Amino acid sequence: MTIPYGRQSIDEDDIAAVVEVLRGDWLTQGPTVERFEDAIAEYVGAKYAVAFSSGTAALHGAAFAAGWGSGDVVYTSPLTFIASANCIRYVGATPALVDIRPDTWNLDLAQIPADAAGVVAVHYAGLPVDLANPGWEKRPPVVIEDAAHALGARTPDGPVGNCAHSDMCCFSFHPVKPITTGEGGMVTTNDEGLAEALRTFRSHGIVRMPEKGRWFYQVQGEGYNYRLTDIQAALGISQLRKLDGFIDSRNEIACSYRRELSRLPVALPPEAPSGFLHGYHLFPVAVGSRGKVFAQLANSGIRAQVHYVPVHHHRFMNDVLCEGVGFPNCDDLYSRLVSLPVFPDLLGVEVKRVIGCLRESVCSDG
Ligand SMILES: *Cc1c(COP(=O)(O)O)cnc(C)c1O
Repeated sequence: MTIPYGRQSIDEDDIAAVVEVLRGDWLTQGPTVERFEDAIAEYVGAKYAVAFSSGTAALHGAAFAAGWGSGDVVYTSPLTFIASANCIRYVGATPALVDIRPDTWNLDLAQIPADAAGVVAVHYAGLPVDLANPGWEKRPPVVIEDAAHALGARTPDGPVGNCAHSDMCCFSFHPVKPITTGEGGMVTTNDEGLAEALRTFRSHGIVRMPEKGRWFYQVQGEGYNYRLTDIQAALGISQLRKLDGFIDSRNEIACSYRRELSRLPVALPPEAPSGFLHGYHLFPVAVGSRGKVFAQLANSGIRAQVHYVPVHHHRFMNDVLCEGVGFPNCDDLYSRLVSLPVFPDLLGVEVKRVIGCLRESVCSDG
């Protein structure tokens, strides 16, 4: 049996929840989306949650609500999925990068210049960026968290998504992410104005104006069809009930990897500092000869992955602003990275198989 690096966990109760919506009146965005938004807001401890059709759409909405545009330089991590940088470009702003910190593999907030218009802070692999202790010269006007990896993770200030030190926090519900709706995303915020801007942007820029007639609406700004469906939201509500269990499973698997791999020539991902809970969306390790390790895992039916080809390596990002010497921490790590399988239903025997294969591969390194 092939072992993927990530995979959804779907039970009968998830299926029943979706079927129930299919038998009802609402398929697209309706009361179930609202219930899902309320459930996420309550879980993370934010005032507002606005659902989107994907994590990427959520990031686009957040970049729009941030008011970023032409002439604005917005920073993100070089070690992330391309959507973290693309969302900056979508609104006409300029994406820029700062290197990652070797001790967290997250972007180094202290390197963000004082004139930055904003930051998209990525909680890489599920380890929250320490936004309470950023070390920056000046807080950028808008701080957005890309928490696609980090629903269920925690900081000393509470769950990721409570926006204790940010303006908005974006989640993804792609099948490999902490919970899934097939495709889906969410933005949480404590700012009513931002929540309103997000809702309008998600649905064509339409504002209803019942005072001018119950039928009347006006398009007041840029907007798209970025709505989540009630079908997807039903799955999301059902999945959210299991999130804490999923995170426990991911942490147990990470614990096994750490115990068994610590004596091998393998660099393990940074641990959560005290007071933090790691989400372990990924378990990336750094090895000496990545090509060989990757091939040997593949030969044993283990579909590892590399997260990520750095942002500045993509042709479309050729013009990304690179301060000074580039991103040596990111580039050095990238050349050795490989993500091992980690997902709630991964069996103990499968974890052992991955460990055995990796041991064989790195110990025959010579
Ligand atoms: C998955 C992911 C996204 C995009 O989410 P989608 O739901 O796939 O659009 C954005 N940022 C990061 C870091 C991700 O891993």
